[in-house]
Amino acid sequence: MNIRFYNARILTMEQGCDLIRGELWTKGERIAYVGPEKEAEPGTVWDEQIDCQGNVLMPGFKNAHTHSAMTAMRSFADDMPLQEWLNTRIFPLEAKMTEQDNNDLTKLAILEYLTTGVTAIFDMYLSPKDIAQACIDMGMRCVLVSGLNKFGPSVKEMENRYLSLNRLHPLISYRMGVHAEYTCDRGLLEEVSGLIHQYRAPLFAHLSETELETRECVERYGMTPPRFFDSLGLFDFGGGGYHCVYFTEEDMDLFAKKGLHIVTNPGSNTKLASGIAPVGRFLEKKINVAIGTDGPSSNNCLDMFREMFLVTGLAKLLQKDAAAMDAREVLAMATVNGARAMGLADADILAEGKLADLILIDLHQPNMQPLNNIVKNIVYSGSKQNVKLTMINGQILYRDGRFAGDVDPEAIYRKANEIIARLAG
Ligand SMILES: [Zn+2]
Repeated sequence: MNIRFYNARILTMEQGCDLIRGELWTKGERIAYVGPEKEAEPGTVWDEQIDCQGNVLMPGFKNAHTHSAMTAMRSFADDMPLQEWLNTRIFPLEAKMTEQDNNDLTKLAILEYLTTGVTAIFDMYLSPKDIAQACIDMGMRCVLVSGLNKFGPSVKEMENRYLSLNRLHPLISYRMGVHAEYTCDRGLLEEVSGLIHQYRAPLFAHLSETELETRECVERYGMTPPRFFDSLGLFDFGGGGYHCVYFTEEDMDLFAKKGLHIVTNPGSNTKLASGIAPVGRFLEKKINVAIGTDGPSSNNCLDMFREMFLVTGLAKLLQKDAAAMDAREVLAMATVNGARAMGLADADILAEGKLADLILIDLHQPNMQPLNNIVKNIVYSGSKQNVKLTMINGQILYRDGRFAGDVDPEAIYRKANEIIARLAG
């Protein structure tokens, strides 16, 4: 598809949050032009020309940590401490989930991502090939990450997935990962380290999410989770951690030195009372910080607008400083920093040659007026109701409240309700 977006404000995110007036062209899955209004080459045939009416075109949000198929458990078990919630409510249900369930439930999450302007996800969950298929079928860009732990899959299986899923489809890639220190034993982690070294691959994991996890790891190994992982060579080729709430200064120095990424999950950390990650400190240490929603049963929504507000609000609270964590930094975390953490170098900014993963933010709504500062409006007063259009890989998948193609949201909702009724029955 050749699409011309004109009469737009464009937030390229190439250098900070400066807006330009102009147009953006897509050709196939890539951006062919971004800049001031100009005439197309004679003979150019547009599939569509979209008058943006002064609205904002920007890179789509990168949800840098999620477990999409946990949509089944949304509002099923809440208001419980994390370990009790996992052990008594979540793990028993997950044990009954089928591969088809994973596929169907991921589709429900994708509908939500499209409505909230998410154009790529970093997804850790069971049966990644079924998640991948749901993403391919619905056009979502997905970086899968292994959630390996002592209950499964095997390291060999992770290797097979690494080899096959990285070749499957242009929308799909796969990273090595483990669920967390507390769900793996040392032998397993050593085996994973062997594989990391064989493929020179980065590794991601839930890291220092709760005080209990961090304390128990120190009791077991005499080291915090990041230092323990590093001592096994698990970060020798990069990677990073999700949550990272209880990071010590040494943990941060390690992440800074090794160029590791942190994905902060403020909605989940708030709802599960895990704590507040010292995100301001991470930035001072020049660590790349991205944002994720975590799964829809610990959040319970997949809305990057809410996460962005929480990132800045919690940093201000933690630091007791209203000047902490400027909106521009938060918007970068939700877009370019996420792309960096996920290894999506071609889907980070709006520029010629980059992948056409973009969203159109509607300014013609009360919560976005007046236009004193559009970036602050997006972070502080914006919401998913302002997402007018979501494009991934050059395909418009959502526009003006409707999903493109033959997507039947009601059928997907029905299926999700049937699945949770069966799993909980
Ligand atoms: Zn998680």
